[in-house]
Amino acid sequence: MPPPCNSLHDHTGLFRLVSGIRDFAARAIAAGAYLGWSAEFLKYVETFADATQKYIKNTRICSQGDIDHLTGAWLVLHDFIKPVVDASALNAPGPLVRFLNMQLRQLSAFEDAKVVVGLVPELNYFQHRTEGLRNVLQSMHLLIGGPRFDMKIGFISLPYSVSRNLFINCILYHELGHFVFSEAHLWRQVFREVEKALRKAFRGKGIDKLTRQELTWVFLQWAEELFADLFAVKLLGPAYTFAAAELTSWMRRGSPASIARFSWSHPPDALRFREQIESMTEDGWGLGGDYANPQAGYIGDLAAIPEKRYEPPSNVGKLKTVFRSLITTLCQNVGAIHEMVGDVLVGAPNPHDDYSRNHESVMACFSHGIVPSVTRPNSLTESFRLVCPTTVLNTAVLFWLREMAPIYKFMSKKTSNPSSISDRARMEERVEAWAGKAIEDYLMLKNRPAKKMKAPRGL
Ligand SMILES: [Zn+2]
Repeated sequence: MPPPCNSLHDHTGLFRLVSGIRDFAARAIAAGAYLGWSAEFLKYVETFADATQKYIKNTRICSQGDIDHLTGAWLVLHDFIKPVVDASALNAPGPLVRFLNMQLRQLSAFEDAKVVVGLVPELNYFQHRTEGLRNVLQSMHLLIGGPRFDMKIGFISLPYSVSRNLFINCILYHELGHFVFSEAHLWRQVFREVEKALRKAFRGKGIDKLTRQELTWVFLQWAEELFADLFAVKLLGPAYTFAAAELTSWMRRGSPASIARFSWSHPPDALRFREQIESMTEDGWGLGGDYANPQAGYIGDLAAIPEKRYEPPSNVGKLKTVFRSLITTLCQNVGAIHEMVGDVLVGAPNPHDDYSRNHESVMACFSHGIVPSVTRPNSLTESFRLVCPTTVLNTAVLFWLREMAPIYKFMSKKTSNPSSISDRARMEERVEAWAGKAIEDYLMLKNRPAKKMKAPRGL
């Protein structure tokens, strides 16, 4: 039971809370540059704050319900603002986020979608569900007027400590997959696909309805994780898989866990990498040959772990048998998740196509310390070709994993000693900066007419 409304007190309390948030957003807008949609979101916060304050001041009749609703809306909005402010253009991989947004809007049903990035204290990536935020803000719009919140907006968070890194942040593609899964309500489709198989998995196990529902939810979470992986690897290519391997290997060192054990929320790395390799192979990628690198062996070893070694979560007690049935059901239906990813990405280019045309030229650029924005023409009549950022990223990650050896030939041993850890770290940052600049150039140049990109005489 809410306390009785003390009109002046409650109105003033909310007015001051909104003032604090508004000032914070306004200071952030004035002080920093924000990646496109983040700026739009902060501007929205400012305008919504103005509308709320105007409403509070002008409303003479105390309505406890209205005050409760408004307070509730601001409490929900409150938690989204600070992470976005922290991820200003100086603290986030801007070109990658802009390109990711561009790719998202090329998908049918996502033409008006936007993704905003934020920073979190944890060493992990998250996609925040926004249905609740949107519903509550839309109902506030009806109550107080002010701006509509009709953005199809996704919030993705990355760890503050790696906010400037480019390679590890290829994991953002996985979070984008979560956003697409949730926006397109794909859990319904997964459920339809496996409903019969789940009923069979639960039959005769003596579990009640509530437990069945919980286990179904666990299953759908596993399916969503696989969807997000496969979405990422199909839209970007192996750069995602290597970023994921990097992150999971850090985490495993910090907190050792079985590589074949399911958790309540995630399938094990063994299954996740197996399916990513399956998808990459289908799209023309191989982790050997041209794409060979030391990390590929580690990923291949995980993927080769047989299904019979997959383990249920460690704390499931008497549900172990039913969990084993769920794991079998997931493995038997994983093909449906691949198909679902294919359906969502229908019409999206296969990143391997551009890679096979341009990766040698891009690799040559990295090897000579040049930003690989365009490929060099072979003749005076040929135009420069813009390089797709997916190729830049996949080649850059490969260059990095092969320890950037060629570039050291061109650098002074004094400043770039390949056996010095700090020099190597600096070199990695440089390669990431060249790749980021190439992505920026692509975003700027892609709409230019081809004739303006002709090679100058004498080249
Ligand atoms: Zn995930």
